Amino acid sequence: MKQMINSKLETIAAIATPIGVGGVAVIRISGQKSKDILKNIFPSFTKILSHKMLNGWIVDPKKRNKVDRVMACFMRAPKSYTGEDVVEIYCHGGVAVANKILSLIFSSGAVIASRGEFSKRAFLNGKFDLIQAEAILDLVKAPTEKGAGYAVSQLEGKLSKTIQGQRSELVGLLAQVEAQIDFADDMPPLNFAVFTRKTKGVLKAIENLVNAGYGGKIFRQGVSVAIVGRPNVGKSSLLNALLNEERAIVTEEPGTTRDSLVEQINLDGLVVRLIDTAGLRSPRSMAEKAGIKRAQKEVLFADYLIAVFDRSQKISSQDEATILAIKNKKGLVVLNKTDLPEQLKSEKINKSLSQWKAIKISALFGQGIPKLAKELKKLILKDNGVSQNTVTFLNARHLECLQRAGEALKRSLSIIKQGSSPDLLALDIKAAILALREVSGAEVSDEVINEVFDQFCVGK
Ligand code: GDP
Repeated sequence: MKQMINSKLETIAAIATPIGVGGVAVIRISGQKSKDILKNIFPSFTKILSHKMLNGWIVDPKKRNKVDRVMACFMRAPKSYTGEDVVEIYCHGGVAVANKILSLIFSSGAVIASRGEFSKRAFLNGKFDLIQAEAILDLVKAPTEKGAGYAVSQLEGKLSKTIQGQRSELVGLLAQVEAQIDFADDMPPLNFAVFTRKTKGVLKAIENLVNAGYGGKIFRQGVSVAIVGRPNVGKSSLLNALLNEERAIVTEEPGTTRDSLVEQINLDGLVVRLIDTAGLRSPRSMAEKAGIKRAQKEVLFADYLIAVFDRSQKISSQDEATILAIKNKKGLVVLNKTDLPEQLKSEKINKSLSQWKAIKISALFGQGIPKLAKELKKLILKDNGVSQNTVTFLNARHLECLQRAGEALKRSLSIIKQGSSPDLLALDIKAAILALREVSGAEVSDEVINEVFDQFCVGK
């Protein structure tokens, strides 16, 4: 762990809980002056022990009036979130109280923390690597419990450990190549077969990670599925049946508007945005018109489709138009109204949509809905090459570094094949090691670090 408790850094403070009225508000202070600041505004205690919860009054040191009765905790460096001396004050939740206490902290010598500054200091003090810092962000933003679970395993360092393992393997290979360069005459020649096998092993591990990252992407961002078909086949009924079955406990992403045309379900951890195209017909108001425009766009760009047909009716020209319009997309065929006598001859559908699995349901009676949900999830996971236990959250930064490492290793493999000089080989292995160090933040510019921590909120 690289301890760098920097005495030149200012002591920072911020409210760590959301602004507004709540049960409790938490104020965080980090830096060398933390304890003195607490002493200054919390006169109940002359001796402040580390990692002990204290209960008493915050008092304005100038006016001597009581501000709030709080709990407070001092955590001596390095056993704290940031690795510096930290104080947390738990006051009554309310904008005025928390702000008043914060202003007393400022007048006692702290400055306002910038976005993510607590976490950035924690990172710089070696409390976690950059992947884990990014996992904190993913955890906070995760839309479902399962998504949060994946973020937690990242926070525990699963990805960091995998990358570290591959990096050590490469460092070992590099040492062999450098020995060849430095002591060519005294060393037995490099065993190219073993060297190639090991390099390929690392390359494979990196490629697996990248693939698992695509899985993480769908668990993090969700997918969109449009329900299409001619009028009266049962699209809205199906949407309702799916909403009933897969009770939607999905948090809203900030900034997204929700309207009746787009609903979200949680398919065992996978967020699916369902678009009901039945509502796309005749808008009754301006607001609806705007909603329809949005939904039309969603259909056009929907990741997958559910094409609904009425099994109790003969195939119509409208059904054929649907088939024609969607032929080149991916999705499932739903043959609805199984509770009624069968009239539909589905050969045409099977022929034109041969890649689409067909599921029989009765949206009205909820029959076949669990199977449909299962098949939908299967399709999405398969299409993205995801198996549940290999999901990894990779962001664009991780992917770029891993791809760069992969390219460098591919170059080294062709150098070995051509029998070129060990100097060239060393260069590419070094480039791969460097790219892997960048993923975990061991070797990144301040700019990248700032970019990551800027995404945090103040107080985090
Ligand atoms: P949409 O226009 O495609 O959205 O179709 P709706 O969901 O509005 O359904 C059209 C009609 O079909 C309604 O009267 C529904 O009650 C009926 N319907 C939908 N699904 C079923 C089903 O599985 N069985 C039966 N018998 N009727 C259904």
